[in-house]
Amino acid sequence: MEENKINIFDLTYTELGKTLKAEGLPAFRATQLCDWLYKKLVFDTSLMLNIPKSCKDIIQEKFDLYIPKIHYVSHSASDNSYKFLFKTRDDKLIEAILMLENGRSTVCVSCMIGCPLKCVFCATGSQIGFIRKLTTAEITGQVLAILCYAKEHEYTQKISNIVFMGMGEPLLNRKSVEGAIDILTHPKCFALSPSKISVSTAGVPGIADFIRKTGVRIAVSLHFTHNELRSEYMPINQRFSIEQLMAELKKIKLKKRDYILIEYLMLKDINDSIGQAKQLLRLIGNLKVKVNLIPYNPTETLPAEASDEETINNFAAFLQNKGIFTSVRRSKGVDVEGGCGQFALKKQ
Ligand code: SAH
Repeated sequence: MEENKINIFDLTYTELGKTLKAEGLPAFRATQLCDWLYKKLVFDTSLMLNIPKSCKDIIQEKFDLYIPKIHYVSHSASDNSYKFLFKTRDDKLIEAILMLENGRSTVCVSCMIGCPLKCVFCATGSQIGFIRKLTTAEITGQVLAILCYAKEHEYTQKISNIVFMGMGEPLLNRKSVEGAIDILTHPKCFALSPSKISVSTAGVPGIADFIRKTGVRIAVSLHFTHNELRSEYMPINQRFSIEQLMAELKKIKLKKRDYILIEYLMLKDINDSIGQAKQLLRLIGNLKVKVNLIPYNPTETLPAEASDEETINNFAAFLQNKGIFTSVRRSKGVDVEGGCGQFALKKQ
């Protein structure tokens, strides 16, 4: 950060208005500024035609308009996704993905550099460790930088969905994540509907409160149906058990058409039996859920394999026959150097 300057992308619309007011500027300048930043994607004040010089001077003196710089881009032809690596000001790498599919353009963002949860199957926590949380500006910055790039290369003119499924645990960085969601959904800023944003969590306390506050959709990385196994692969389970997680999910007040997305990793011979599918059904049976089965994308720290196609199909069919909407994720960006955390590791 430039010394003593506030990064403008750290501020929600309300905060920006207050900050400008404290500088003696009228409230409508916040609207004009946000229009340039989030709707026109203009980050150079000299190009902001309707803002007078005196105001630009204050903006320049007070604010830093820095967004993360794209360090590397890799395209996967098989699923038309683009993996981006950004370099932060402190020279750390963050990864994000743009997925173009069926007329939708989804950005997957990171909220931390590394992750403190250290799930055994995940490259982010187990190999990178935990370095630091990202700021609101570093999260919104990923979306803005990707949209600028996508427009420039004529891939897409807008972002339709955002998922917090990159590096890090969003619910352990609530301040920055909630700030970013505020900016991304505010009508005067990025103006995306909260229903177009999904946040994935490994399961920590406070999920229901977070949903009540933000109105976004929630995905839960359940992955295992018994505490012993879940604790072995996801150490957070030792402190927040499956029963506690389920009790938290029951507290969520879902909107009419909303549901909780249950993510379930498919690890060969570890969690993919029909017995485990039955137990999964018992756990989620009285919740409004959809299930997404995720074939394991092998990492160095866990020498396991993805379940085979037939096992995945049988697991899915079992749940579907019991009336649970179940889909299978065909890994995005696997041929552009892996999933969560793996890209950043290779390019370090
Ligand atoms: N911390 C959050 C969000 C980041 S991970 C969470 O745990 O939900 C996003 C998703 O990718 C999670 O469901 C995570 O379990 C999954 N994931 C991590 N490593 C993976 C791997 N090697 N193969 C497949 N999915 C993986």
